[in-house]
Amino acid sequence: MIYFTFLTLAGAMNAIGYMYEVSSTNLDAAIIACKVMYLGSPFIGPLYLMFALDYINKPLKKRWLTALIFIPAAVFSIAVFAYPGARVYYSELGYSTAGWQPHLAVTPGPLYYPCFIYEFALVIAGAAILIYGFMRDKTRNHTLIFLVSAVLPMSAQIINFTGVLPGQMNTVPAALTATIAMLSWYLARYRRLEWQSLGRELVVQNMNDAFILIDANRQILDSNDMARRYFPELTNARPGTQLSAIPGFPAGALAESGDFDFDLRVDGVDLFLHLSSTALKHSGASIGACLLIYNNTVNHLMMAELSRLAHFDDLTGLNNRTAFFRDAKRMYELCRRQRGYPGSALMMDIDYFKKVNDTYGHAVGDDVLRRVGALLNRRVRRTDICGRYGGEELCLWLPSTNTEGSLKVAEDVRAAVENMEFSSDKGSFKITVSIGVASADGTEPLSFEDVVKRADEALYNSKRAGRNRVSVYDGAVLI
Ligand code: GH3
Ligand code: MG
Ligand code: MG
Repeated sequence: MIYFTFLTLAGAMNAIGYMYEVSSTNLDAAIIACKVMYLGSPFIGPLYLMFALDYINKPLKKRWLTALIFIPAAVFSIAVFAYPGARVYYSELGYSTAGWQPHLAVTPGPLYYPCFIYEFALVIAGAAILIYGFMRDKTRNHTLIFLVSAVLPMSAQIINFTGVLPGQMNTVPAALTATIAMLSWYLARYRRLEWQSLGRELVVQNMNDAFILIDANRQILDSNDMARRYFPELTNARPGTQLSAIPGFPAGALAESGDFDFDLRVDGVDLFLHLSSTALKHSGASIGACLLIYNNTVNHLMMAELSRLAHFDDLTGLNNRTAFFRDAKRMYELCRRQRGYPGSALMMDIDYFKKVNDTYGHAVGDDVLRRVGALLNRRVRRTDICGRYGGEELCLWLPSTNTEGSLKVAEDVRAAVENMEFSSDKGSFKITVSIGVASADGTEPLSFEDVVKRADEALYNSKRAGRNRVSVYDGAVLI
């Protein structure tokens, strides 16, 4: 807008000057009018060029280059003002009342024609720049009006040179006024519209989400840079290529509209992406879809971590109490419904664990818990469920396992712990565990909680009987 405003001003000076010239009554008045004209005229060329560069979004970055383009205009303007002291622009000016209106009879000086060449060259360059901008970006189809604005005053100037008009009539001021009026109307009317579509284009291009536009036959119509980063083949895909032909594009996402999660390896990094598809309708008929894909990796990893924390105990890696009860209980209920042998619960507590902490420190205590947890995990079947009941108490659910079988497991674990060696700053040591076992054979109406409670009672019996042993709920204490 800055260049356009100055362009308007320069055009106005030209027109006002000419008005004074044609209404002048003597030579001196006509010369002053001419000087007013030349406050604007020489600057029209460079201002038009600058306006064109701005319009295609390529303004000159180097200030000295801008200055260089404007310097000749200033020189021409000063040269006119210097008359008659210096006769470089006009070598002689006369006053003529012959013809249509009073006007100056001009005898050109050395700078006279260079000024026209300069003006024409810059206006032609500006027009060429606008054509270039139009070729590069066909969506900006308003270039025609700017080309007309270049051609109109230039044509008027050429007509002046040919001298075909009666009485030395100068049509440039009229052409300039018409041109600027046309441009003002155009800019006021369309500028907003144009910025809106340009703005949308920029948003789609620069946004962090990938954008793919497809038609009703799932043929690609358009995509942005981020989409091409995720699916490099999009770069070479011609409009009309089937989206399913793009390597890496999830086939499932095409099957239905709506949301779709998928993972994709991009530049050696695994990304978790979320695709949402919006159907595009026109007159009630589906004409295609807009696919937006956003990078959901951070959220996905956070959710995975939250889910891990919600399920597992951080220290031992076993199920936490909530997860143990939920999973084991489901298994218990299932076995009961199928009238099979429901299974057995094991409760296990580390003996004199407080002493371990007190003697070797909590870090060593933690390490003991970690290793006992790992041992438990290793010793049991995949279908068995291990958990940390709380503190140094661990629990185990053995589905479809009777008392005899679960006693074997319990004894196995007890003996394995007894044989473990732990080391610390204060030397190595050993620990023992007490275990309680309770089975549900399906004959009694027991809840899962009842079975666990019985195992806990059996554990208490083991403790009372001297620790490092296994007890069954029915009262027998095994060594
Ligand atoms: P008992 O043979 O009767 O079971 O004796 P105990 O010392 O093992 O039993 P008590 O219940 O009195 O003490 C349990 C101790 O376990 C107390 C607590 O400091 C410790 N403990 C519980 N959770 C953790 C843990 O996550 N890390 C460590 N280092 N110690 C724990
Ligand atoms: Mg204990
Ligand atoms: Mg305890």
